[in-house]
Amino acid sequence: MYVYARGSRQIKSKFMAASLKFTYGDFVVNTSDKLNILQEATPKSSFFGLQKNINAMCLADYVCEVLADVTVDGEPAEEALRLTLNCLHVLSEGKYAPDDVKTVFELRMTEVLGINPDLSCCARCGAAGKDWYYLDVMNGELVCRDCGRGEEDERMSEITRTARIIVMMTGAEAYAADRIINADRNRMFSLPADPAIRRRLGEISEKYLLNHLERSYKTLDFYKEMTKL
Ligand SMILES: [Zn+2]
Repeated sequence: MYVYARGSRQIKSKFMAASLKFTYGDFVVNTSDKLNILQEATPKSSFFGLQKNINAMCLADYVCEVLADVTVDGEPAEEALRLTLNCLHVLSEGKYAPDDVKTVFELRMTEVLGINPDLSCCARCGAAGKDWYYLDVMNGELVCRDCGRGEEDERMSEITRTARIIVMMTGAEAYAADRIINADRNRMFSLPADPAIRRRLGEISEKYLLNHLERSYKTLDFYKEMTKL
């Protein structure tokens, strides 16, 4: 929600610390006027470590923009908030590379929103442990090569008709993404050691989440520009 913090830019203001970007805390808001007005604020964490790493800070912007986008004013969103705070925390502490935090955030957010893919096996025949699969992004399911065989031409025509989004995914990538989505909260950042798999997971998680949310994010474009430098 948008809240007006009176005088918060003044150095002596009691709201200055609490109204800094990325501040997590308790806020008492008077909503009786047309404006929401901040009455009291108790910051709990400001994630100061973000200041030390420009890429981490840019990613934090993206994470917060997605959170604001998927939540509704006045409605609790505990799981989405907890995921966001976890990601801000590890970014601030420099525990994991921003690219890896992005992958975990995107995959876990699909789970929070109930739109996560089923990556455990082929949706049609139940085969697991295959070398590679098709990921049907909008249906959130894997199809193995055998089940998808012969359909490729048909699929191509379907692609043009209904804009079906198909992504190739190796078995190792599907396994790793499945683990991230379903891991306990304290183990969700355990990504595979192979940098090629991690890079590919990042591409897939982004494509998946953004297609489901049907939008792009300026903060994400900016993050990508910064990490290219
Ligand atoms: Zn199959």
